[in-house]
Amino acid sequence: NLTDRLERSFKILKGEGKITEINVAETVKEIRKALIEADVNYKVAKTFTDEVKRKALGMNVLNAIKPGQLMVKVVHDELVSLMGGQATDINLAGNPTVILIAGLQGSGKTTFSAKLANHLKNKKGKSPLLVAGDVYRPAAIEQLKVLGQQINVPVFTIPGSNDPIGIAREAVRVAKNNNQNVVIIDTAGRLAIDEEMMKEVEAIKKAVSPNEILFVVDSMTGQDAVNTAKEFNDRLNFDGVVLTKLDGDTRGGAALSIRAVVDKPIKFVSTGEKLDALDIFHPDRMADRILGMGDIVSLVEKAQEQYDAEQAKILHKKILKDQFNFNDFLEQINQIKKMGNLKDLAGMIPGVGKALKDIDIDDDAFKNIEAIIKSMTPEERENPSLMNGSRRKRIAEGSGTSIVEVNRLLKQFEDMRKLMKMVSGGGAKNLARMMNQ
Ligand code: GDP
Ligand code: MG
Repeated sequence: NLTDRLERSFKILKGEGKITEINVAETVKEIRKALIEADVNYKVAKTFTDEVKRKALGMNVLNAIKPGQLMVKVVHDELVSLMGGQATDINLAGNPTVILIAGLQGSGKTTFSAKLANHLKNKKGKSPLLVAGDVYRPAAIEQLKVLGQQINVPVFTIPGSNDPIGIAREAVRVAKNNNQNVVIIDTAGRLAIDEEMMKEVEAIKKAVSPNEILFVVDSMTGQDAVNTAKEFNDRLNFDGVVLTKLDGDTRGGAALSIRAVVDKPIKFVSTGEKLDALDIFHPDRMADRILGMGDIVSLVEKAQEQYDAEQAKILHKKILKDQFNFNDFLEQINQIKKMGNLKDLAGMIPGVGKALKDIDIDDDAFKNIEAIIKSMTPEERENPSLMNGSRRKRIAEGSGTSIVEVNRLLKQFEDMRKLMKMVSGGGAKNLARMMNQ
C-alpha cells in the first residue's frame, strides 16, 4: 500500500550522507509512482513531487538528521498542505441550519446523515431533524428511521409523497416550529452521475438554500471519487467533502487528490458502520496515517528548532558586536527564500495572505541584492566599511546594476545594521525610544 511504498522510496536515501539533486530526483520519482499507484491524480502527484524536490533541496543541512528523515518530514508537510492544511469546520449558521447531503448511491449518505446528526447532538448540543429525501426506495426511508431511533433523533417523512423538494421545504418549516436547530436532508443517489438526480438535488438546493452542502464519497472508489466530486461540484458548488469507508483497505488517493482537484475541504471522514465512527478530518493526522512515521517527523522538527535557535544566537552575538556583515545578510535572504516563495511566506502571516492574494509579489525581489553582494570580494562582505568609490563602481559593473543601486543597498544595509543592534541590544525599551523619535 501507499505507506509501504513511500517507506521504500525513503530507503533510497539510506546511507547517503546528504541530499543531492541526484538522490532527491530518484526518491521523488519513487514517491510519484507510489502516489499514482494509490490513485492520486497524475497532475496532483507531479505538482506534489516537484514541490517536495524543491523544498528538500532548499533545506538546511542538519548534522543530527539523516537525509531520509529529512525527506519524510518534507513529504509529511507537503501532504498536510495538499489536503488543505487545517481542519475545516462545517458552517452552523442559520436557524435552523440546513445541511444538504448529496452523492452517489451506496456512497454512505444515509449512514453519514445519521452520524452527523449524532455528532451535532452529542458534541455541539444541537437538536437535529433528519429528513428522508430518498423517496424512491421505501427501504431507504425505513433505513433512516431505524438509524434515527438508534441515536434518538427524529426523522421527518411525508408518507406517500414522492416529491423530495416539497418534503425538504416542509421539513425546514416544521423544524422551525419545533425548535429543531439543524435540518439534515438525506437525498437519493444513483449508481452513476445522472441528469435527473442532479436536477433533483439542484432543485432541493434552490428550495431550501442550505447553509452547508456536503458531498459524500466512497474513498474506496479511487480515481472515480475524484471525477464524481468534480461533477457534483460543477453542478452544486458544494461546501465540503465527506470521505466514507476509510476503515477499509482504501488506497488513500482520494483523500489526497480531491482537495487539489475541486478546491473544497474534506470536512469529515467516516470510518465504520457504527454511528459514532465519524471523525473531523485533520490533514496532519491523515498525513501521519499515510506515512506512519510520526516519530521521525517530530524528531526532525525538534532538530530544526534547535538549529534555528543556535543560528539565532550566533546572529544575535554578531549584531551586538557590530559584526553583522554581507555574508550574514546573504544568508538571511537565503533563509527567506528557502521557506518558499515570497507569496507563500506572506500567506503564512495571519491576515496578510488574503490581502496579498491578488497582488503580484516579485519573487525576484532579491535578485539584484544578491547579485550585488556576490560581486563583492570576501573582504568587502566581511567588512562593509571598506567600500570606497572605486570598489562601488567595480561592484556595480560586476553585478550588472548601477552605482545608484549599489549605494542604495549599502545605505539600507547600514540602516538595517543600526536598527538590528538597537532592537537586539536593548529589547523593547530601545525600540520604543526609536519609534518615538
Ligand atoms: P447511501 O446509498 O449513499 O445512502 O449509502 P448508505 O449510507 O446506505 O451506505 C451504503 C453501505 O455502506 C451500507 O451498507 C453502509 O452500512 C455502508 N457504509 C456507510 N458508511 C460506511 C463506512 O464509513 N465504513 C464502512 N465500512 N461501511 C460504510
Ligand atoms: Mg441512502
